[in-house]
Amino acid sequence: MNYHVLTLFPEMIEQGLHTSVTGRALASGLIRLCAVNIRDYSKNKHKHVDDYPYGGGAGMVMQPEPIFDAYQDVVKSMERPPRVVYVTPQGKVFRQSMAEELAKEENLVFLCGHYEGVDERVLEELVTDYISIGDYVLTGGELPAMVMIDAISRLIPGVLNNKESAEFETFHDNLLEYPQYTRPVEYHGKKVPDVLLSGHHGNVEQWRREQSLKRTLERRPELLENAVLSPQDDAFLEKLKLEKSDDFHCHDIHKKYD
Ligand code: SAM
Repeated sequence: MNYHVLTLFPEMIEQGLHTSVTGRALASGLIRLCAVNIRDYSKNKHKHVDDYPYGGGAGMVMQPEPIFDAYQDVVKSMERPPRVVYVTPQGKVFRQSMAEELAKEENLVFLCGHYEGVDERVLEELVTDYISIGDYVLTGGELPAMVMIDAISRLIPGVLNNKESAEFETFHDNLLEYPQYTRPVEYHGKKVPDVLLSGHHGNVEQWRREQSLKRTLERRPELLENAVLSPQDDAFLEKLKLEKSDDFHCHDIHKKYD
C-alpha cells in the first residue's frame, strides 16, 4: 500500500506514522508513505496557499492550483487514477468496513484541509471519497488522515503480528469485543473470571461470544441490526432482554411498595 498525503504539515504526518505499528510497517516496506507539502507547489513568491473567500465571511480558503499541481506530481508515476480521499467533517463517517475496502487499494491519496476548507472546484475535479472521522470539527485534516491510515494499515497482511491479530476484534461481525484480562489473577480484590483460567477452549469461546453479545447490547445496540448472528446468539440475546425487562419490572414493584 502506498499512501500519499497532500498536506500543509508533512512533518506531523511523518512523525505521527513513523511510530509503533505503522512505524514498523513503514520500516519493513509493507506500507509506504509520501507526505507532500502543498506549499511547495505554490507559485506565489511568499508561498501563500490560501486566500479570502469570495462572498465574504470569516477565515481563509485553500486555493485550488497548488493542490492540483501536487496531485499531478503524485499520480504521474501511477498506472491508473487512485482513489482520492478528502478528509472532511462533511463526509460519510469512517467505519471499519470502509477501512477494509480501502485496504484493497494499491495507492491512496489523502487531501488534508485547513482553515475554512478547500476551494470547491479542485474537490470536484479530484476527490473520489469524502470521509469524516466524526461529527465534530478539527483544525486540520492531518489527524483524520492518520486515523484512517492507521485503521487501514493494520488490515494489510503482515502489518500486525500474530499476537496483535485483527481477526476477532471489535466490529468483527459487527460486534464489540469481549472483555480482556491479563496477569495478575487478582487485582484490587477482583478476580479474572474462572472460565478463562479453566483451560477449556470450548467454554472460553462460548463465554467470549456471550460477553461480546452482552456488551454490544448494552453499549451499541444498533450494531446488532447488521451483526452476523447464529440461532444460539439470538436465543442468548432474547434471554438478556427478558432479564433486563424483569429487572425493570421488579424495580417498579419495589418502588411502589417501598
Ligand atoms: N469549514 C469547514 C466545514 O464547516 O465543513 C471545516 C473546516 S476545518 C476547520 C479544516 C479542515 O479540517 C477540513 O477541511 C478537513 O480537512 C479537516 N477536518 C476537520 N474536522 C474533520 C472531521 N471531523 N473529519 C475529517 N476531517 C476533518
